[in-house]
Amino acid sequence: MMAQYWSLKDKAGDCLLFYRMGDFFELFFDDAKAAAATLDIALTSRGEHGGEPVPMCGVPVHAAESYLARLIRAGHRVAIAEQVESPAEAKARGGSKALVARAIVRFVTAGTLTEESLLEGRSANRLAAMAEVGSDGEVAIAAADISTGRFEVVAVRREAVDAELARLAPSELLVSEAAEAPVAGARQIVRRPAGEFASTAGQKRLEALFGVQTLDGFGTFSRGEIAAMGAIAAYLDHVGTGSAVFLQPPLRVSASDRMAIDAATRESLELVRTMAGARDGSLLGTIDRTVTAAGARLLADDLASPLTDKGAILDRLDLVDSLARDALWRGELRATLRALPDAGRALGRLVAGRGGPRDLAQLRDALGGARLLRAHLARRADLPPLLARLLPGLDGHGALVDELTRALIETPPVDAAQGGYIAEGYDHALDALRETARDGRKAIAVLEAGYRDRTGIASLKIRHNGVLGYHVEVPAKHADALMAPDSGFTHRQTLAGVVRFNSADLHEAASRVTQAGVHALGAEAAHLETLTEQATQRCEAIAASCDVLARIDVAAALADHAMSHNWCRPDLADEPCLDVSGGRHPVVEAALAKSGERFVPNDVSLSEADRLWLVTGPNMGGKSTFLRQNALIVVLAQAGGFVPAATAKLGLVDRLFSRVGASDNLARGRSTFMVEMVETAAILAQATPQSFVILDEVGRGTSTYDGLALAWSVVEAVHEVNKCRCLFATHYHELTRLAETLTALSLHHVRAREWQGDLVLLHEVAEGPADRSYGLAVARLAGVPAGVVKRAEAVLAKLEAGRQATGGLAAGLDDLPLFAATLAAAPVATRDALREALGAIDPDALAPREALDALYTLKRLL
Ligand code: ADP
Repeated sequence: MMAQYWSLKDKAGDCLLFYRMGDFFELFFDDAKAAAATLDIALTSRGEHGGEPVPMCGVPVHAAESYLARLIRAGHRVAIAEQVESPAEAKARGGSKALVARAIVRFVTAGTLTEESLLEGRSANRLAAMAEVGSDGEVAIAAADISTGRFEVVAVRREAVDAELARLAPSELLVSEAAEAPVAGARQIVRRPAGEFASTAGQKRLEALFGVQTLDGFGTFSRGEIAAMGAIAAYLDHVGTGSAVFLQPPLRVSASDRMAIDAATRESLELVRTMAGARDGSLLGTIDRTVTAAGARLLADDLASPLTDKGAILDRLDLVDSLARDALWRGELRATLRALPDAGRALGRLVAGRGGPRDLAQLRDALGGARLLRAHLARRADLPPLLARLLPGLDGHGALVDELTRALIETPPVDAAQGGYIAEGYDHALDALRETARDGRKAIAVLEAGYRDRTGIASLKIRHNGVLGYHVEVPAKHADALMAPDSGFTHRQTLAGVVRFNSADLHEAASRVTQAGVHALGAEAAHLETLTEQATQRCEAIAASCDVLARIDVAAALADHAMSHNWCRPDLADEPCLDVSGGRHPVVEAALAKSGERFVPNDVSLSEADRLWLVTGPNMGGKSTFLRQNALIVVLAQAGGFVPAATAKLGLVDRLFSRVGASDNLARGRSTFMVEMVETAAILAQATPQSFVILDEVGRGTSTYDGLALAWSVVEAVHEVNKCRCLFATHYHELTRLAETLTALSLHHVRAREWQGDLVLLHEVAEGPADRSYGLAVARLAGVPAGVVKRAEAVLAKLEAGRQATGGLAAGLDDLPLFAATLAAAPVATRDALREALGAIDPDALAPREALDALYTLKRLL
């Protein structure tokens, strides 16, 4: 057994090995220790290995799923080794001591789940692979959700890999053993042999998977993309040990079709998950009114990847708009959708060979519903264009739905083992078998009555169990009568209070029942197989219908939420602007509403001439909230939804950045000043004039002087070089002096007032700089003892006096030359001469030697 165990464990690699022994899956050695710790079950031992007891723990097979779920959630992967022959077969093969043959039948891993009980219904579950082929700096990332069949691939530049992974949030990420750096961004990274990332082998594997001669029909893919997709195919083959999986043809997404949002920005804006990892409290969690699980998954995708194509955004907005206008229609649609089961995932299980009668019924109900919905929608005259285009995708399953409707009972069981799911009237032979079984059971009831009469024992019963089958049971005190040799009964079993018998008549009736039952089960199983095949043959069309239903659900949900919260349809402008009146932060507003407080709406107006707002004001005054609400408005608008504002107009944003000063995150122990600076560097390197950037207290994570100096130079660079739209919140008052030199920068502050010694935060954004910093008032508000605040007042007075005398922290910054210090210092005549000489140079016409000469001439002029 040890030898068998080790050879299986060898195949399992770094997965925990579930080793089937009778009614248990047993784990041994380190696997046992890890599982016992995670599952909080007893660690025992069995036998010895190398003189040491072998650690062991086990889980019952019938409850294995819930244990699996916990292990997977804790980051483990599990290999399931089943007994692949019965003990009797083993004996026949190798004598009485023969070991039952076992084999790994499946690997259970986070990214390859299909079971309803192991999956989170409202989130996607992705398996991703990344591959780099050649040295052009492009990395291909493929992602598959085998619970719904969605398969996408994207090529991005190396520095955008983290952002892309953050968008996809895969539960498992495959990287080649030969790949250089380990990467972050996935919950679990699995290293696979380099050979599985080879593009030629990948191409063959994909062609086999989709049963095509060439992948050309799906689009043109780079070698890297083929390699990444091929690695997914190879891994699926490995974990499923050859069983089928559901993958739709790959969809090639282009990174430029979507707003670039990097990992840090996603995290700080809490788009689909809070920083603590919860859905509740995120933007998604706050606005999600979808009524189907597939809709919830699509909304999460939409918010995670806002669009950059104006036409596509307008399409979505038109759909939301028409649903927003017609509450009755919206209500009807939502009621219809709400009743539909999650057909996408049912289909995934069926294709994977793990489906059951319940899954088929889910397809029947969902596709039947889709057909009704289509008929209902087709009657409308003013369908929005997107919906009109999607509508045909809902249809075409009529024959399948009819077949399933005739074949299945209303609510079939999840598991096929007990039968009873095929409807009466579907198959006459099956009906006849059931009739026979029913007759047999009736005959047994008649026998029971007859035996009671004959023996005079009123408590005589005919019972059924797994060991004896049908048998006669009497209380022990009456047993003697039946024990008599001529009684017609044969003794089978004596228990504490009862004695059990068999009889010839009963045996005959029982075998009729059993045989008919076995045949009926077989007939049902054959139907299940045929029906499953019929459904899976249409899997692509079914998946497409599911996508359409999800899209309608999302639009209706967005419209519904918008209407109940007074949101507006955003206007898309061609120039880079952001004009919002009455803007609100949906999550903060919802939180305040719970405690009966009102959110104060605020306006913003960024344009080419006024594209950088410096926002000052006291802590807790609402600066962060203001910054983030505008970033969220941009995300919502480009995801194709309404926005929390009275009016909103924006020029499309290509990249969105959000950075929070280090100390805000310190409590979580992961953000350091270094991280803050790395992230800031990324913005300065990547933001374009079409980007939108919010910077919150940048520079806060270091000493006052360093921090101010950095904040100062970052603002300058954003203004002069990146020229993006930017909201910059700071408590460095000194920065307000930048308004004197930077023409497209303006000053704003969150209002506060001291009233009867108390600080009142108005959360209102107003023009101009804040008049003072209110730090001490905030301290008082926070409950810092009066004595300490008094002492701080005295220290402050001294500091301020010093500032008056020396010119303060920012002394001398006013005349800090921005660029080209030497040039600014040169006399006017020199500058004119330089300008003239530069004007005379035509760089394209210069030979290298002449260029060098020109450089010397310029240098001499200075
Ligand atoms: P700051 O960044 O200036 O320190 P925050 O944006 O973190 O301030 O806001 C602090 C708190 O003030 C928030 O948690 C919220 O409760 C409240 N707040 C912020 N903005 C508003 C607003 N516009 N209306 C009402 N309350 C607000």
